[in-house]
Amino acid sequence: MDNLLTLTNITRQFGEIKVLNGANLSLAAGEAVAIIGPSGSGKSTLLHVAGLLDVPEVGSVLLQGKNVATLNDDQRALLRNKACGFVYQFHHLLREFTALENVLLPAQINQTQSHAALKTRAEALLAEVGLSHRLHHLPAQLSGGEQQRVAIARAIMNQPKILLADEPTGNLDPHTAEAVTEVLFNLITSKGMAALLVTHNPILAAKCHRVLNMSEGVLADVTAQFVKPLKAPKKQPTAPRKA
Ligand code: ADP
Ligand code: MG
Repeated sequence: MDNLLTLTNITRQFGEIKVLNGANLSLAAGEAVAIIGPSGSGKSTLLHVAGLLDVPEVGSVLLQGKNVATLNDDQRALLRNKACGFVYQFHHLLREFTALENVLLPAQINQTQSHAALKTRAEALLAEVGLSHRLHHLPAQLSGGEQQRVAIARAIMNQPKILLADEPTGNLDPHTAEAVTEVLFNLITSKGMAALLVTHNPILAAKCHRVLNMSEGVLADVTAQFVKPLKAPKKQPTAPRKA
């Protein structure tokens, strides 16, 4: 199996409550998967496990063929930094840094490239999200949609194989959410990234290859409810019509 990410039988509990209770998930290279489900059902918890930010009590996490349980903290952090990009509901940009400096941040760890090369790449990414004219603005000088675009550029600065996004449009008005969704999907597609997207936004979910619903600690495939089936062909007359 050449899955990029495989979660098997994941259990994660806080105190008495098993938030994840035997959850399974596989993600192939280049595949976009949406995760939906009610608030408090464990979507963020699952995303943290998938992105190596949290370690489950039970179950296995395989990322790029590596069993994460065999890695120490440093090795896990390194794998996460190289393989995963994160976007959150609230942009989590550093307020005293400009857009460009924020995008450069993930590249400060374990970098072999020159600062000039990294800066060129960060500028190109900001151009791709439509922010060439906002490179030196501080987060407070940007709109909500612009802040989220910077956060998206920052998430892909290290060329991750997987983009993990937790309600990336959850804090935006519908019009802005749609524009940011388009930016997000254009990047996912053009970079060939896989994506795991927690969302309440049906437009975002419908753009994914699969939709999974989180309920009672497990994930169930509900793709058919979101991704429209191909239109049925127009009814042809059963007998050939006479001219
Ligand atoms: P969702 O993202 O679907 O809204 P979460 O994964 O954030 O849900 O949370 C699922 C449940 O786990 C909630 O009841 C939440 O309070 C609990 N929970 C999440 N993280 C922690 C934590 N670090 N400590 C204690 N309880 C937590
Ligand atoms: Mg959440």
